[in-house]
Amino acid sequence: AGGGVEVEAKLRLRDCRELEEVEKRLQELGAVHEEDVAEEDTYYQHPCRDFAETDEALRVRLVDGRAELTYKGPKRIIGGSKARAEYTITLEDPSSARRILEALGFRPAAVVRKRRSYYRLDGVSVSLDRVEGLGCFLEAEYTGEGGQEAARAIEEALEKLGVAERERIYKSYLELLLEKKAPEA
Ligand code: ATP
Ligand code: CA
Ligand code: CA
Repeated sequence: AGGGVEVEAKLRLRDCRELEEVEKRLQELGAVHEEDVAEEDTYYQHPCRDFAETDEALRVRLVDGRAELTYKGPKRIIGGSKARAEYTITLEDPSSARRILEALGFRPAAVVRKRRSYYRLDGVSVSLDRVEGLGCFLEAEYTGEGGQEAARAIEEALEKLGVAERERIYKSYLELLLEKKAPEA
């Protein structure tokens, strides 16, 4: 995320066959296939702050033998995208990092697992996500600098892919999973 700000759009695909259709379209458009990874995300709760309330997040991500720690700040919505502060560091020793967090009073709250294919289309990173227990999604994230321009570049990429009219999801995978486990009557 350029300048410590993440700008991304998330949308639900009809099903996982549509993910394959979008993948074909990406290839036709000459998008660069960057990598296919398995991501396992542990979200932590703060000892005295309710992150669901403050719209923040602290996460340890394991991705194919690598590990990283990410903080995300509260979201703003700009033109169909979410924008928020995001800071990430690489973890050399994730189990010690977890011990530090737990010693400080952070508690693991939930784990989200997915397989993700990363493509690059112009200045936009397109992720095709198969989320365990949830289904298939697409995310488009701007990787350059600047805010206004970011939302526009994302919309252009979504238009090229034929999915710009899709309903946008402003909730996180974690919120979607929690909703599914405890449906409101
Ligand atoms: P990334 O874009 O960094 O690869 P992702 O696509 O796997 O992440 P997202 O759904 O975009 O996952 O973002 C993670 C989300 O989890 C954040 O929006 C964060 O606010 C949310 N979150 C973290 N902890 C909680 C919690 N306890 N309750 C509800 N939502 C939470
Ligand atoms: Ca995301
Ligand atoms: Ca992102």
